[in-house]
Amino acid sequence: MFGFKSFADKTEIEFTNGISALLGPNGCGKSNVVDAIKWVLGEQATRSLRAEKMEDIIFNGTEDRKALNVAEVTLTLENDEDLVQVDAPELSVKRRLFRSGESEYYLNNTPVKLKELRELFLDTGIGKSAYSIMEQGKIDQILSTKPEERRYIFEEAASITKYKVKGQEAERK
Ligand code: ATP
Ligand code: MG
Repeated sequence: MFGFKSFADKTEIEFTNGISALLGPNGCGKSNVVDAIKWVLGEQATRSLRAEKMEDIIFNGTEDRKALNVAEVTLTLENDEDLVQVDAPELSVKRRLFRSGESEYYLNNTPVKLKELRELFLDTGIGKSAYSIMEQGKIDQILSTKPEERRYIFEEAASITKYKVKGQEAERK
């Protein structure tokens, strides 16, 4: 992370196998780390990022530190179980946003469109609306949500989302 919310300095966090826990006092940036993961995976809903407008995710300065003009998050994942159809041992997804509103996505340092990233992560459970991020209230939401919406979770786990999306696109054409 660089310039993302409270992370003015370049910050690298390694999540190894097993369980990692983020500990720290209120307001130290634990939830900002989760926001960064959602954001780099293509989250467009500012509310879900606890921001009013997208620009709010860029470090906006403190008493003794100037605001920055760009936010950048890179998420690097191992691809050793052929998680996605990319012929590389590692996947590095990067998103960048400038204060001007200009926004960029990269996959292994090649510019890509958000749509391409979305397609890549369909059925992996990793997408921004998939189940890889279980926030407060999400379990309740899954249990109380409409059956059609709940089915989405199972379809993602059963790896059939991509076929549904392709079908919907074909219908539209
Ligand atoms: P809690 O334990 O209360 O849940 P937390 O560790 O999850 O706290 P976060 O919500 O991640 O804390 O971080 C909140 C902090 O991030 C606040 O101090 C807020 O000022 C700071 N922050 C959020 N957006 C920005 C921004 N654009 N620029 C600078 N700081 C920001
Ligand atoms: Mg928090």
